[in-house]
Amino acid sequence: MKDVTIIGGGPAGLYASFYAGLRGMDVQIIDAQPKLGGKMCLYPEKIIWDIGGVAPKTCYEITQDVIQQGLHFNPDVHLNSKVTDIQKIDHQHFKVLTDSGQQFSSKSVIIAVGVGIIQPQRLQICNANRFELTNLHYVIPQYEHFRDKVVLISGGGNTALDWAEALSPIAKSVILVYRNSDVKGHEATWEKLNQRDVICHANTAICALEGSPEHSYRIGTVTLSDTQTNERFRYNVDEVIISHGFERQLDLLKNASLDIETLPDERIAGQGNSRTNIDGIFACGDVLHHSAKVHLITSAFSDAGHAANCAKNYIAPDAPAEGHVSSHNPIFKQANKQFLPK
Ligand SMILES: Cc1cc2nc3c(=O)[nH]c(=O)nc-3n(C[C@H](O)[C@H](O)[C@H](O)COP(=O)(O)OP(=O)(O)OC[C@H]3O[C@@H](n4cnc5c(N)ncnc54)[C@H](O)[C@@H]3O)c2cc1C
Repeated sequence: MKDVTIIGGGPAGLYASFYAGLRGMDVQIIDAQPKLGGKMCLYPEKIIWDIGGVAPKTCYEITQDVIQQGLHFNPDVHLNSKVTDIQKIDHQHFKVLTDSGQQFSSKSVIIAVGVGIIQPQRLQICNANRFELTNLHYVIPQYEHFRDKVVLISGGGNTALDWAEALSPIAKSVILVYRNSDVKGHEATWEKLNQRDVICHANTAICALEGSPEHSYRIGTVTLSDTQTNERFRYNVDEVIISHGFERQLDLLKNASLDIETLPDERIAGQGNSRTNIDGIFACGDVLHHSAKVHLITSAFSDAGHAANCAKNYIAPDAPAEGHVSSHNPIFKQANKQFLPK
């Protein structure tokens, strides 16, 4: 039996893993996605400015650091595992169940599920998924990837407009298509797109993707249709980016056998120290709400430290309420050697 099960491997869950390790607890992390990083994996190209003490850099770089820190004490990590229930084994211990029938037991549980399992809305076109490994994108890895290419972006929200703006100076050409007559993005971005040579098609939707003559597994031609007249037209493209919003699943808290108190917006009604209404279950990050909460990565880290400290005290009531600061902590003595001057 592990000391802590952490549900969710986003910034909150990863920092909880690190801090629980610092407090001498053994940890298992369970996440529904195929990789760690949580929502940060959805915007790797964006620059993050508002994490205390971290100079502005891409979200991808910060995510790599957060993952490295979260894995420092070698937690067990179970990916592609959606947690469907949290149950009590006895008056003190817990069992976490997943959709594939696995069971994980632990002495405490930290819920770090953000606002649930988030996936970009997929393009509802037969066989579209076969291009996902090549040139059909739902998340932009790096802007450089699109240099000198013909890029078609589908979507009329802020993200689609931001991508069109960022790619227009790099790409050979950018075509923006959106279903409605208007875009929902910021006016200032829209004005910039008009000044640059972005080709915009309102009332337009993708209706077919065709493989290129050289590589059938890469999109070569996109067929578009006018949503009002049904008129069809085609573009030869190098890359296609879809920004149709996200779908979200947060059924864990609704369905869990334990009655974890939630708010109308489905977040956990918790306390500033990350406690929930159930002893032994703690929460951190976006899923936790209390009157002083701000929903930022920085506060996810702060919550996670509290959650790990409270879990430690739940398991070992005589342990100190807080951990040693890392600069004095003997747990890093060996690892520090690699950073000290030879
Ligand atoms: C486009 C965008 C830009 C942003 N920019 C910033 C910014 O500049 N600065 C900032 O501070 N914040 C920013 N944020 C917010 C920030 O990303 C979140 O506050 C942060 O990711 C919350 O971390 P978390 O670990 O609580 O949740 P998440 O990052 O959402 O991670 C939750 C994890 O739990 C997993 N999960 C959920 N349910 C289950 C389940 N039942 N079983 C197993 N696993 C489950 C999910 O798969 C996910 O990996 C931005 C968010 C978005 C969408």
